[in-house]
Amino acid sequence: MGLVVQKYGGTSVANLEKIKNVARKVIRAKEEGNDVVVVLSAMAGETDRLIGLAFQAAEDPDRREYDALISTGEQVTVSLLAIVLNGMGYRARSFLGYQVKVHTDQAYTKARILKVDTRVIREELKKGSIVVVAGFQGVDMENNITTLGRGGSDTSAVALAAALRADVCEIYTDVDGVYTTDPNVYDKARRLKRISYDEMLEMARAGAKVLQPRSVEMAKKYEVPVYVKSSFTDEGGTLVTKEDKEMEREVVSGVTYDRDQAKITVVHVPDRPGIAARLFTPLAEHNIPVDMIIQNASMDNYTDLSFTVSRKDVKEAYRLAQEAAKDVGATSVEVDENVAKISIIGVGMISHAGVAAKMFTTLAKEGINIMMISTSEIKISCVVQAKYTELAVMVLHDAFELDKRED
Ligand code: ASP
Ligand code: MG
Repeated sequence: MGLVVQKYGGTSVANLEKIKNVARKVIRAKEEGNDVVVVLSAMAGETDRLIGLAFQAAEDPDRREYDALISTGEQVTVSLLAIVLNGMGYRARSFLGYQVKVHTDQAYTKARILKVDTRVIREELKKGSIVVVAGFQGVDMENNITTLGRGGSDTSAVALAAALRADVCEIYTDVDGVYTTDPNVYDKARRLKRISYDEMLEMARAGAKVLQPRSVEMAKKYEVPVYVKSSFTDEGGTLVTKEDKEMEREVVSGVTYDRDQAKITVVHVPDRPGIAARLFTPLAEHNIPVDMIIQNASMDNYTDLSFTVSRKDVKEAYRLAQEAAKDVGATSVEVDENVAKISIIGVGMISHAGVAAKMFTTLAKEGINIMMISTSEIKISCVVQAKYTELAVMVLHDAFELDKRED
């Protein structure tokens, strides 16, 4: 007998019919002899609706109240699932983040989980209950409700699995696993049977939507095996797990794209110590993650400095960059929102030369201009004009023969 954490995303709990389908899957795991903890998202579209309401109510909604509002979608689904399970003859209880408790810091709208209490859950499991926990939410040290960032219920699930030392964390979603690229963009995409934590993390960070990046970080840290599956079929699935020899043989495992990118350029910045610090410290203080940064070679002791941020942060980042630009005597700040980031990812890259060259040549052949480049040991990303997103994904998928990948 094991302990299984199952997480169901918004499309899997989009209506009562679908919640009943979830109940049947939960019951199956329970009947197989497992203790089952279920983590749910809000119904598909509900979090967006609540966010819309917040911004209709005020231009710049108070962040504490904003989190209190947008966390309510999950209260509906967890209680509904518990009601359905009870109706089917199973003991089930729902819990919100503060009831568990899922302790977080105070960074409203993108809070980090600090610690998960397991006592309440363990007590319920001992009584034979199926425990249903609201994803996406936690509570800070002053008892305020916090949320974990979009897609945060993945992280809730992995955090619970880690804290409870679950045997597996199953993430049920509307796709049947992790693919070499987005099948909606390229029909030659192949499903991966297994993928390493590091590759999955880079894929998630580079824009693959299956898992929230933080959930993968956490899974890696606590070595939680994560199984990505479809809630609508029993076929397929991808196991996210520790790296092994077989994975290392593949040079590239996936191509991802991220349209949620905006490029900010600070023009004609004096080239002297302290400038980058002056520019990026306020962004960090405002919790705005900066993705890529490039600084052009300095000709006349002046340089241009470009960086990318998520589009939702662009207004604030622009304002902060303008303040900094004025301070340091830069000429102007420019914003380009018509950009996308294309990345190739694979643990095998470390030991293969020429991967970057092949990526650049492939894009060049299509006349796609590369505006920014960044690399890590297992990832190469290029910022290109947004209109080339699909084309870039397809030609790179072909160039690295990902359609021939056997799963
Ligand atoms: N309901 C939240 C969202 O839409 C959390 C999640 O789905 O994981 O972002
Ligand atoms: Mg999700």
